[in-house]
Amino acid sequence: MRIGQGFDVHALQEGGRLVLGGVEIAHTHSLVAHSDGDVLLHALCDALLGAAALGDIGRHFPDSDSALRGIDSRELLRRVMEQLHARGLAVAGADLTLVAQQPRLAPYVDDMRDRIAQDLKVEAGRVNVKATTTEHLGFTGRKEGIAAFAVVLLDE
Ligand code: MG
Repeated sequence: MRIGQGFDVHALQEGGRLVLGGVEIAHTHSLVAHSDGDVLLHALCDALLGAAALGDIGRHFPDSDSALRGIDSRELLRRVMEQLHARGLAVAGADLTLVAQQPRLAPYVDDMRDRIAQDLKVEAGRVNVKATTTEHLGFTGRKEGIAAFAVVLLDE
Protein backbone atom coordinates (compact mmCIF):
# COMPACT_ATOMS: atom_id res chain seq x y z
CA MET A 1 0.00 0.00 0.00
CA ARG A 2 1.02 3.64 -0.51
CA ILE A 3 -0.54 6.62 1.26
CA GLY A 4 -0.91 10.18 0.00
CA GLN A 5 -2.42 13.40 1.29
CA GLY A 6 -3.37 16.59 -0.50
CA PHE A 7 -4.46 20.08 0.48
CA ASP A 8 -5.62 23.04 -1.62
CA VAL A 9 -7.22 26.46 -1.22
CA HIS A 10 -8.78 28.85 -3.72
CA ALA A 11 -10.15 32.35 -3.13
CA LEU A 12 -13.81 33.12 -3.79
CA GLN A 13 -14.92 35.85 -6.18
CA GLU A 14 -18.35 37.19 -7.02
CA GLY A 15 -20.08 35.65 -10.04
CA GLY A 16 -18.85 32.87 -12.30
CA ARG A 17 -19.32 29.14 -12.19
CA LEU A 18 -18.59 27.17 -9.00
CA VAL A 19 -17.46 23.58 -9.63
CA LEU A 20 -16.55 21.25 -6.74
CA GLY A 21 -15.83 17.54 -7.04
CA GLY A 22 -16.75 17.77 -10.73
CA VAL A 23 -20.26 19.01 -9.90
CA GLU A 24 -21.60 22.47 -10.75
CA ILE A 25 -22.93 24.15 -7.59
CA ALA A 26 -25.62 26.85 -7.57
CA HIS A 27 -23.95 29.83 -5.82
CA THR A 28 -23.37 33.59 -6.06
CA HIS A 29 -19.55 33.12 -6.08
CA SER A 30 -16.92 31.03 -7.86
CA LEU A 31 -13.26 30.18 -7.21
CA VAL A 32 -10.37 32.21 -8.63
CA ALA A 33 -8.09 29.88 -10.62
CA HIS A 34 -6.22 29.20 -13.84
CA SER A 35 -8.31 26.02 -14.30
CA ASP A 36 -12.00 25.65 -13.41
CA GLY A 37 -10.88 26.05 -9.75
CA ASP A 38 -12.13 22.69 -8.53
CA VAL A 39 -10.28 22.78 -5.21
CA LEU A 40 -11.49 19.31 -4.18
CA LEU A 41 -10.15 17.62 -7.31
CA HIS A 42 -6.86 19.53 -6.98
CA ALA A 43 -6.39 18.24 -3.42
CA LEU A 44 -7.24 14.75 -4.69
CA CYS A 45 -4.73 14.98 -7.58
CA ASP A 46 -2.05 16.04 -5.10
CA ALA A 47 -2.86 13.12 -2.79
CA LEU A 48 -2.68 10.67 -5.73
CA LEU A 49 0.58 12.11 -7.04
CA GLY A 50 1.96 12.12 -3.49
CA ALA A 51 1.10 8.46 -2.94
CA ALA A 52 2.78 7.60 -6.25
CA ALA A 53 5.84 9.74 -5.37
CA LEU A 54 5.24 11.77 -8.54
CA GLY A 55 5.54 15.28 -7.11
CA ASP A 56 2.56 17.62 -7.19
CA ILE A 57 -0.13 19.09 -9.42
CA GLY A 58 1.84 22.30 -10.03
CA ARG A 59 4.70 20.30 -11.52
CA HIS A 60 2.45 18.32 -13.87
CA PHE A 61 0.01 21.12 -14.77
CA PRO A 62 1.76 24.50 -14.33
CA ASP A 63 -0.48 27.58 -14.42
CA SER A 64 2.01 29.10 -16.88
CA ASP A 65 0.63 26.59 -19.45
CA SER A 66 -1.97 28.50 -21.47
CA ALA A 67 -3.37 25.20 -22.82
CA LEU A 68 -4.69 24.51 -19.30
CA ARG A 69 -6.64 27.78 -18.98
CA GLY A 70 -10.16 27.07 -17.74
CA ILE A 71 -9.59 23.31 -18.05
CA ASP A 72 -12.09 20.90 -16.46
CA SER A 73 -10.26 19.52 -13.41
CA ARG A 74 -11.81 16.10 -14.05
CA GLU A 75 -9.56 16.03 -17.12
CA LEU A 76 -6.54 16.73 -14.86
CA LEU A 77 -7.68 13.93 -12.52
CA ARG A 78 -8.03 11.49 -15.42
CA ARG A 79 -4.52 12.39 -16.63
CA VAL A 80 -3.14 11.74 -13.14
CA MET A 81 -4.91 8.35 -13.07
CA GLU A 82 -3.39 7.43 -16.45
CA GLN A 83 0.06 7.93 -14.93
CA LEU A 84 -0.84 5.83 -11.90
CA HIS A 85 -2.35 3.03 -13.98
CA ALA A 86 0.77 3.02 -16.18
CA ARG A 87 2.76 2.27 -13.01
CA GLY A 88 0.38 -0.49 -11.90
CA LEU A 89 -1.15 1.60 -9.10
CA ALA A 90 -4.88 1.47 -8.28
CA VAL A 91 -6.94 3.39 -5.73
CA ALA A 92 -7.92 1.33 -2.68
CA GLY A 93 -9.71 4.22 -0.99
CA ALA A 94 -10.08 8.00 -0.95
CA ASP A 95 -11.47 10.21 1.81
CA LEU A 96 -12.06 13.85 0.88
CA THR A 97 -13.13 16.88 2.92
CA LEU A 98 -14.37 20.24 1.66
CA VAL A 99 -14.19 23.22 4.03
CA ALA A 100 -16.67 25.96 3.11
CA GLN A 101 -18.92 28.23 5.13
CA GLN A 102 -21.21 28.67 2.14
CA PRO A 103 -22.94 27.31 0.12
CA ARG A 104 -24.39 24.25 1.84
CA LEU A 105 -22.69 21.33 0.09
CA ALA A 106 -24.39 18.30 1.66
CA PRO A 107 -26.94 17.99 -1.19
CA TYR A 108 -24.07 17.61 -3.71
CA VAL A 109 -21.66 15.20 -2.02
CA ASP A 110 -23.20 11.99 -3.39
CA ASP A 111 -22.94 13.29 -6.97
CA MET A 112 -19.33 14.34 -6.31
CA ARG A 113 -18.50 10.87 -4.97
CA ASP A 114 -20.04 9.16 -8.02
CA ARG A 115 -18.14 11.33 -10.52
CA ILE A 116 -14.86 10.99 -8.65
CA ALA A 117 -15.22 7.20 -8.41
CA GLN A 118 -15.84 7.12 -12.17
CA ASP A 119 -12.63 9.07 -12.86
CA LEU A 120 -10.64 6.96 -10.36
CA LYS A 121 -12.10 3.82 -12.02
CA VAL A 122 -13.27 2.33 -8.72
CA GLU A 123 -16.69 1.53 -7.26
CA ALA A 124 -18.35 4.41 -5.38
CA GLY A 125 -17.92 2.52 -2.10
CA ARG A 126 -14.20 3.27 -2.17
CA VAL A 127 -14.71 7.05 -2.19
CA ASN A 128 -16.03 9.32 0.55
CA VAL A 129 -16.77 13.06 0.29
CA LYS A 130 -17.48 15.17 3.37
CA ALA A 131 -18.25 18.86 3.74
CA THR A 132 -17.74 20.96 6.86
CA THR A 133 -17.71 24.61 7.91
CA THR A 134 -15.24 26.30 10.27
CA GLU A 135 -18.00 27.87 12.41
CA HIS A 136 -17.36 31.32 10.85
CA LEU A 137 -13.68 31.20 11.89
CA GLY A 138 -10.71 31.94 9.62
CA PHE A 139 -10.67 32.66 5.88
CA THR A 140 -13.11 29.88 5.07
CA GLY A 141 -15.44 31.07 7.84
CA ARG A 142 -15.30 34.63 6.46
CA LYS A 143 -16.24 33.19 3.04
CA GLU A 144 -13.01 34.44 1.49
CA GLY A 145 -12.13 31.02 0.13
CA ILE A 146 -12.77 27.27 0.07
CA ALA A 147 -10.26 24.64 1.23
CA ALA A 148 -10.06 20.90 0.62
CA PHE A 149 -8.19 17.96 2.14
CA ALA A 150 -7.68 14.54 0.57
CA VAL A 151 -6.24 11.26 1.80
CA VAL A 152 -5.79 8.26 -0.50
CA LEU A 153 -4.47 4.73 -0.31
CA LEU A 154 -3.06 3.08 -3.41
CA ASP A 155 -2.62 -0.64 -4.05
CA GLU A 156 0.43 -1.72 -6.03
MG1 MG B 1 -5.71 24.43 -6.96
